[in-house]
Amino acid sequence: MPTKKTNDQHLLGVHCSISGGIYNAPIEGAKLGCRAIQLFTGSNQRWASKDISDDDAARFKDEMKAGGIEVAFSHTTYLINLAAPDKEILKKSIDTMAGELGRCSLLDIPFAVLHPGSPKEKGADWGIKRIADSINAIFDKTHMLKSKIALETTAGQGSSIGSRFEELARIRELVDDKSRIGFCLDTCHIFSAGYELRGENGYKKTWKEFRDFIGMEDLLAIHLNDSKFNIGLHKDRHANIGEGEIGDAGFANIMNDPKLVKIPMVLETPKGDNAAKQDSKNLRKLLSLVTV
Ligand SMILES: [Zn+2]
Ligand SMILES: [Zn+2]
Repeated sequence: MPTKKTNDQHLLGVHCSISGGIYNAPIEGAKLGCRAIQLFTGSNQRWASKDISDDDAARFKDEMKAGGIEVAFSHTTYLINLAAPDKEILKKSIDTMAGELGRCSLLDIPFAVLHPGSPKEKGADWGIKRIADSINAIFDKTHMLKSKIALETTAGQGSSIGSRFEELARIRELVDDKSRIGFCLDTCHIFSAGYELRGENGYKKTWKEFRDFIGMEDLLAIHLNDSKFNIGLHKDRHANIGEGEIGDAGFANIMNDPKLVKIPMVLETPKGDNAAKQDSKNLRKLLSLVTV
């Protein structure tokens, strides 16, 4: 069932499938009443991705317009690890990320969301430097392009970098071209990393820290996911909106926060057997929490 655009304030949407063609993502998003969508521009599980033909790129842009979708952004393949100690994996990661930015550029996609990386046993300081060096190499390779990298906050599972806002800020500090670096905040991940979203005081404290270390200007997108596990457990398990530990209290804070109204926000919640039905339910749930 399509979600009516009952709330024209929020740039709200879902992660859409590209199955059958890249242009199917905006078609799916439009059916759900999305104003923002996220998609993979290639494989999410493999290194190699097919080139996008000019015809497909043109059709993607047409469908964006026809469907009234204002923002589309990409999520990179999960294989990329810009903190990889292994040189071969690092090289593949840099090349794959450069390819991703090339596809984004072809599709007029302003940024690609990326998990910063995991340095394994090398430690966070080493990892932060490795990630920044890798991003510098990627930006050198793609200096003619405008598409940005949006580093995503992580839950801090394993050795993953990015569960503290200060870690993300340190990466930016070491990146030469700061105009092409931004951030994507995932509600499940930050909550799992220990940032409170429920209640007034905890919510305010989280955003104060975000502003102090990162700043609102560089917040390019938000992933709206409830969390199966409670705060601070460093577990990345998404739940449907209102059915996890963040719950209505946390998402009501977000949906009624004036500073987030113009930030693209997409769901990455479980799709179940019927993705359209489940996405629509989660979107309606979010809109039902809007009181202002
Ligand atoms: Zn992600
Ligand atoms: Zn996410």
